[in-house]
Amino acid sequence: MLVLVLNAGSSSLKYQLINATTKDVVATGLVERIGIDGILKHEVSKNKKLDFEIDMPTHKEAIELVLKTLTDSETKVINSIDEIDAIGHRVVHGGEYFNSSTIVDEKVIKKIEKLIPLAPLHNPANILGIKICQELMPKTPNVAVFDTAFHQTMPEENFLYAVPHEDYTEHHLRKYGFHGTSHFYVSQEAIKLLGKKKSSKIVVCHLGNGSSICAVKDGKSISTSMGLTPLEGLVMGTRSGDIDAGVIPYLMEKKDMDGHQIIDYLNKKSGLLGLSGISSDLREIIKASQDGDKRATVAIELICNRIKKYLCAYAGLLGGVDAVCFTAGIGENSDLIREKVCNGLDFMGIEIDKNKNKIRSAENREINKSTSKTKIYVIPTNEEFVIAQDTYKLVKGK
Ligand code: ADP
Repeated sequence: MLVLVLNAGSSSLKYQLINATTKDVVATGLVERIGIDGILKHEVSKNKKLDFEIDMPTHKEAIELVLKTLTDSETKVINSIDEIDAIGHRVVHGGEYFNSSTIVDEKVIKKIEKLIPLAPLHNPANILGIKICQELMPKTPNVAVFDTAFHQTMPEENFLYAVPHEDYTEHHLRKYGFHGTSHFYVSQEAIKLLGKKKSSKIVVCHLGNGSSICAVKDGKSISTSMGLTPLEGLVMGTRSGDIDAGVIPYLMEKKDMDGHQIIDYLNKKSGLLGLSGISSDLREIIKASQDGDKRATVAIELICNRIKKYLCAYAGLLGGVDAVCFTAGIGENSDLIREKVCNGLDFMGIEIDKNKNKIRSAENREINKSTSKTKIYVIPTNEEFVIAQDTYKLVKGK
């Protein structure tokens, strides 16, 4: 079964065509700058790539171009769009409506629309992606896979904010958590590596531009660092993560900002970028720190301390940890961050092997010392694979 996996952002569109039966990735690509000008990067294999710039005023032209590239270009992989059996869409916010992936119908779209106030930047683009596919491929089923769904197993004591209860019941104010498909995939891989133990206690550190950490007990999310929105928790590329809410009125007065400006400041101007004044990209911060930049050095220590704080808190909630997993751009590639996070945690059975940690690989790997009570894994995430699998199961089951 061929599944087209789509991740529609506000001005971008990531796609993969996956053979869900063999698990092979047939083609992959990225469209950027939709509504500005338009760039498409398409890849079938290392030697079969296509890059071009073409005007894409809306997502419709972008999806049309993707379909044309798949079916009618020098790098075509199928003869007709009818060969695509189903489309799996990444949808950021599923609120409390969705605790698993679902086949899209009008009712589902209405619910995703209702959740726009909770994800104003993401859900509208996701809905657009679904509607355009319905228009261009009316016979092909669409499946929505939610970033929040995996965390719907969190118990109330871990998802409620300590505010008046009616704001949860009336306004849905609570922690939802994100990166669910990644936390699910990585924790499932870790369970396999642990030898499919009946009960398992796993902490997944998804460290990328956006970062979150998740406590997974027996395969289920019991707590996660992101909240009502993806701003809470770890320090990220441009997001502050946890901050005293008292900062908001303080900044309003000191810098004459309104609520929108403060959210923009905390989401886009803070984190690594704000701390270092250099970049939101960790590689640049590491280089600056090696060149003697003090702010860059403090930024690195600060992000690691925040991760460590959550890791230890989650070890407490879980009552121990069988495996700590690192994933996403930073988690998979930065031995420095992994080492700093694990350093000093020998007392709780987390002992990193510095040499194993330095080995670069695209495979799942173990980087703990043989004496370590807790396994430390690097597990490359694969959200597209989860979306393709869920889509396959739902459409096949139908
Ligand atoms: P996104 O959340 O946008 O998907 P990614 O998961 O791609 O982000 O992660 C991007 C982050 O990974 C950037 O901060 C980048 O600097 C970092 N990164 C990638 N490779 C390395 C590396 N070799 N060393 C340190 N950081 C890296």
